Amino acid sequence: IVSSQGFELRPTTTPTDAAQRDEVLQNPGFGRYFTDHMAHVRWTHADGWNSGEVRPYGPLSLDPAASVLHYAQEIFEGVKAYRHADGSVWTFRPEKNAARFQASARRLALPELDTETFIDSLKALVAQDIDWVPTPASEAEESSLYLRPFMIASEKFLGVRPSKEVDYYVIASPAAAYFKGGVKPVSIWLSRDYNRAGPGGTGAAKCGGNYASSLVAQQEAEANGCAQVAFLDAVEHKWIEELGGMNLFFVYKDGRIVTPELGTILEGVTRDSVLQLAADAGLKPEERRISIDEWRDGVKSGEISEVFACGTAAVITPIAELVTPEERIAGGEQTEIASELRKQLLDIQYGRAEDRHGWLTRL
Ligand code: PMP
Repeated sequence: IVSSQGFELRPTTTPTDAAQRDEVLQNPGFGRYFTDHMAHVRWTHADGWNSGEVRPYGPLSLDPAASVLHYAQEIFEGVKAYRHADGSVWTFRPEKNAARFQASARRLALPELDTETFIDSLKALVAQDIDWVPTPASEAEESSLYLRPFMIASEKFLGVRPSKEVDYYVIASPAAAYFKGGVKPVSIWLSRDYNRAGPGGTGAAKCGGNYASSLVAQQEAEANGCAQVAFLDAVEHKWIEELGGMNLFFVYKDGRIVTPELGTILEGVTRDSVLQLAADAGLKPEERRISIDEWRDGVKSGEISEVFACGTAAVITPIAELVTPEERIAGGEQTEIASELRKQLLDIQYGRAEDRHGWLTRL
């Protein structure tokens, strides 16, 4: 059997029973449970991309010499599938994730997967595992199916050069709201000892290595009572760049809304959407460098009224304070704009507001 996207369907012979699945969907947490299938497309240097398949979810068989295990030639994405009130399932701006996946592939010397195959892989998997997409019981329940496309270098070869065999997969995991008990402003920790990215590095790519190298900084954040780590630029140690897994925004009383410029940060899909929604709302978006000094002084003078973080997993989260070894810098007095933008974004994603920018794709 072949899916309408041309993926060969090899259904599992041991699907999760409905009662067990529904129990998981009641309380999925984040990234703990996985659906019954995964999508897979193989690439070889000789033949290019093969045709895809949807096969049972399960362990991969990798040679111990597979280059991903040694040299971390790997990239990934994060996308969500949302169930609307009428039961249909949609995803948000997948062409942006496809483009970012292509950019990450170029940086990691991996083969590019075309946008159509990327989106088809999401469609083929979600069609097979559609019952795993949670139905939110209320607007407050931001449940979804988190999709994780990734690509690994699987050639058996110990040598530092691009792999001639590559495998692309998509797995899926039902997800509850990122923060249980509603949105609460979070504290973030300023990493001084560790940098995330530098000029010419891989900061703009979504590659596993970036996250591996962020883990000690994240541990330091947690040891200091903070939810996430914030990174500075690696050259002057002066410009705030982003969090371990989210982009940052600063709202000014005069209507400006500032986010760090692209270059060494990840180009967030949520970041781009917030820039658009802010402009639609008559705010004045600016993409530019912003220093820790500007943050501190702006909050002190009252010029900066809000600071928030954004990303696919947690949507928009207000920042309560930036904690550094020397001081605590507040995140601003208000959370109105963050809450409004958050609501607008979720309303589009869950089909409760008009999709005026054409951001939704039906899965
Ligand atoms: N920065 C980093 C380092 C991230 O890992 C993420 C999550 N993908 C983001 C920003 C936010 O990106 P997006 O809005 O596309 O989820």
